[in-house]
Amino acid sequence: MIIRGSSVSGDLKLRTQDLVIGSGPGGSTVAMLLAKAGRQVIVLEEGSFVPAEEMTQREGQMMGRLFSEGGTRTTEDKGVTILHGQVIGGTSVVNHLICFRTPDRLLELWAAEGIDDLDPAAMKLRFDRIWEILNVARIDESQLNRNNTLLMDGAKKLGWKGHPFDRNANSCLGSGFCTIGCAYNAKQSAALTMLPLAGQYGARVHADCRVTRILHDGSRVTGVEGVVLGADRRPKAKLFVEADRVIVAGGAILTPTLLLRSGVPDESKMIGQNLYLHPGSPVIGHFPGMNVDPTVGILQGYGISEFSWPLNGHPIDVLPEGVSGPPGVASVVVPGLGAAHRDGMRQINEAAIAGVLLRDHHPGHIELRDDGRPLVHYTLHPEDAERMREGSKKTIEAYFAAGASRCMTGHTVPTEVRSVTELNRLDSASYAPGSIALISYHQMGTARMGGDAKKHATNPDGRLWGLKNLYVADASLFPTASGVNPQISVYGMAMRVGERLAASS
Ligand SMILES: Cc1cc2nc3c(=O)[nH]c(=O)nc-3n(C[C@H](O)[C@H](O)[C@H](O)COP(=O)(O)OP(=O)(O)OC[C@H]3O[C@@H](n4cnc5c(N)ncnc54)[C@H](O)[C@@H]3O)c2cc1C
Ligand code: SF4
Repeated sequence: MIIRGSSVSGDLKLRTQDLVIGSGPGGSTVAMLLAKAGRQVIVLEEGSFVPAEEMTQREGQMMGRLFSEGGTRTTEDKGVTILHGQVIGGTSVVNHLICFRTPDRLLELWAAEGIDDLDPAAMKLRFDRIWEILNVARIDESQLNRNNTLLMDGAKKLGWKGHPFDRNANSCLGSGFCTIGCAYNAKQSAALTMLPLAGQYGARVHADCRVTRILHDGSRVTGVEGVVLGADRRPKAKLFVEADRVIVAGGAILTPTLLLRSGVPDESKMIGQNLYLHPGSPVIGHFPGMNVDPTVGILQGYGISEFSWPLNGHPIDVLPEGVSGPPGVASVVVPGLGAAHRDGMRQINEAAIAGVLLRDHHPGHIELRDDGRPLVHYTLHPEDAERMREGSKKTIEAYFAAGASRCMTGHTVPTEVRSVTELNRLDSASYAPGSIALISYHQMGTARMGGDAKKHATNPDGRLWGLKNLYVADASLFPTASGVNPQISVYGMAMRVGERLAASS
């Protein structure tokens, strides 16, 4: 059952055993497991409840309704655009449905931080369950749009490993609007899967409720305070919830922000540190005379795994994926300013677009602004920039192998390459802030889990080392960047935390 802010009159005062903050993959999974175990559960979500019939497929309307800060958040140096959802179901409502089980190599790396029960066999049981709940299935090659088959054709010609993705969809029409919400209920987001299950087991879900502070005495949490938002998104009433346990799942940007704002004890000083943004940078291949039309169909359907460290042990550690979005979103990756950008958009029907997804090795951090909102410090480290450059060259090679006449990267001053022999043109291209389009769809790591209170913000149960009853259950837990699209890793890590919480209640 979802209670909207508009239906609340007067201040909201509640009491529960378990309080979950955030309704994305992390929060909804923990809520489901705790409610199933018979616990009293309340979920508080700052975003609104937006059902399929309200998904208008208009970017101007939906970006503001579905994304945190309307999709305008950037790093402090403006070098990286940071996208994450703010809606019932969290970022899973605006994501592109790709499902990667956390690769074994990564699970081993994370387990080495002192995290037990994270071995591939234990996680397989969780992933199998998640697969079933989210209705995940492999895309057939025949379902790929031209944007993705061109990348696949190139990779195949070069003998590189790659595959169509697994996706959490049910009767997808290939409308191409995934980024601004699915109007057909085909995307099996947390809002349509984990959260309704949590509701069936008795959890109460409150939309339009922003938690501003976690209340604690330095050793135990007693509850939270916040505001209820009205239809105009302005605070209309006060919110106070008393709880025996609080589980924060606000995503890797807003979870540490709330924890820092609440002044929770943190011997490790790791809350808000270890921020991985998994930046993606565009590569565009031009195929004159071909109707590629990258903005329709299954937007993100194929990836080249050859150069990924988690998947294939490759040191470049990038995952190029065929990707696009509705025209406004796609325009962000078309390079150039003014007339050059206009010309690029005019030719978009003949362009194939890939995002080079980088597993960043060098994190940034979050600090609080004076008004309590996050200030994100992150600049692409020179070593990460070099790997992005190499990954972009590999993606360009794939497009030439598929028959492209010329290729471009997302540099502000367009960098054009007309054959593989011209790839060295990229050698002098700058990756300094503002020189290249970098977009973060995946944020992680800001309350990292591990076995050492001096090095990790959360313990292997997901509990904040410094407080007896405050937990984290979202992408903030990741010890490092995942290198693959992270939603299933979030569901999996949250399931592990939820099982332990259910067992200890
Ligand atoms: C455009 C886009 C495409 C993507 N595509 C994919 C993909 O194809 N595959 C994939 O694996 N991943 C994808 N992702 C990433 C993936 O969706 C996220 O990694 C995942 O949803 C993170 O889950 P989470 O639970 O950590 O946080 P979120 O899903 O971000 O949920 C956090 C929720 O907490 C709420 N919240 C935060 N603070 C508060 C507060 N103080 N009070 C109340 N509520 C609060 C937020 O409003 C939000 O709804 C994509 C992301 C984007 C932006
Ligand atoms: S392509 Fe269209 S129908 Fe399919 S999941 Fe995305 S928005 Fe829904």
